[in-house]
Amino acid sequence: MSREDMRQLQTKRLIKTVKTCYEKVPFYRRKMNEAGVKPEDIKSIDDIVKLPFTTKTDLRDEYPFGLEAVPHSEVRRIHASSGTTGKPVVGTYTANDLAMWAEGVARVMAVADVGPKDTVQVSYGYGLFTGGLGAHDGAALRGAIQLPISAGNTEKQIMLMEDFGSNILCCTPSYAMRLAEAILDSKVVSVNKLKLRAGFFGAEPWTEGMRKELEQKLQIKAYDIYGLTEMCGPGVGGECECQNGTHLWEDMYFPEIIDTKTLQPVAPGEFGELVFTSLCKEAMPILRYRTRDLTRLIYEPCKCGRTAVRMDRILGRSDDMLIIRGVNVFPSQIETCLTEFTAFQPYYFITVDRINNEDTFDINVELKADYFSADPQDQMKFIKPLFNRIVSMLGIKPNIHILPPYAIERSLGKAKHVHDKRNFKG
Ligand code: ADP
Ligand code: ZN
Repeated sequence: MSREDMRQLQTKRLIKTVKTCYEKVPFYRRKMNEAGVKPEDIKSIDDIVKLPFTTKTDLRDEYPFGLEAVPHSEVRRIHASSGTTGKPVVGTYTANDLAMWAEGVARVMAVADVGPKDTVQVSYGYGLFTGGLGAHDGAALRGAIQLPISAGNTEKQIMLMEDFGSNILCCTPSYAMRLAEAILDSKVVSVNKLKLRAGFFGAEPWTEGMRKELEQKLQIKAYDIYGLTEMCGPGVGGECECQNGTHLWEDMYFPEIIDTKTLQPVAPGEFGELVFTSLCKEAMPILRYRTRDLTRLIYEPCKCGRTAVRMDRILGRSDDMLIIRGVNVFPSQIETCLTEFTAFQPYYFITVDRINNEDTFDINVELKADYFSADPQDQMKFIKPLFNRIVSMLGIKPNIHILPPYAIERSLGKAKHVHDKRNFKG
């Protein structure tokens, strides 16, 4: 679709969404009244900046169904995101919403031409988490065979992968790495015998280095799939064959990037916080939702021919950002450094503490089994170059510890990379 046609479609859908929000959801009416904006003020997609933001706290305050714009009896499904503390964030869906969601995932899967000949192994968790059922419904819409195995039970995953000839894998990148490791270690299954050809990995940040490892270990093409419960779940966007940014389905979810301090839109192409307005959602339309995901939008046309805007890899969530000795650190930066060295596994765990008024910064890492030695002298050979790389990237010095193979916990879903002990010291 041309930019101009897209803008017209977005304008039409935004006007409708804002009107619905104002008329049906007391929360939005109140917020818009406070901001002095009426539905009539929204005449084009550019007017979106007049609307107030919605935050995760707002969603919690309106828990569970306060933001619904349809009678609750029109809801066909309820999901919820984990949420680290307190009440979960709820997403509810009408039949249309479920169809739109599946459409978003199916568009992502189109890049690998997923269809009736394919068996899609869905190793995202099924349940309230949107990963499992989201990938499932997308695969169904593509007409593929769905294998709803959910996350975990790694041995069985690889047995069925071989026996059933799964050729598409959907899971978090960290679980994909766990599966790859199990396949390479297995005496029973070998990667050459598997039919895997593509993977759709998301639900957590991952790096280019991680992609290369997964593609090489599993002998597949690894594509990013992005989403969040507040929009629908996975399938807000996905990568194309160029693998140079994640196309966002901006006819359904309008993206903006704002400066986290001024809350004003940044110049096109600059980094900031991603904000979405749903343009098609019925059950829980959402205006200018602050995702806290940090990235940038790329408006240049993509070689693949898709005209939907692209988003750069997500650096992390603003609330996952660590400030260590005054320096901003994203856990994904450690992954980037690790994957530049063949000897290291892409697994890591960061511990931060404050001792004698100074921040400590410890990183536990693993060497691949072939390189591992318990001898500190031998270990220094590996630690030194990694240390230098991290210092050049971050400008602060970590304490690096090499743990024995498999010592770092492998994740089934979203990996946990940080323990910030300072949080408990007030
Ligand atoms: P929770 O907040 O409990 O993790 P969700 O499952 O809705 O709930 O998670 C959505 C979030 O997951 C996104 O806002 C983003 O931070 C992260 N995420 C999802 N997909 C990706 C991806 N492909 N790359 C990076 N981060 C992602
Ligand atoms: Zn493209």
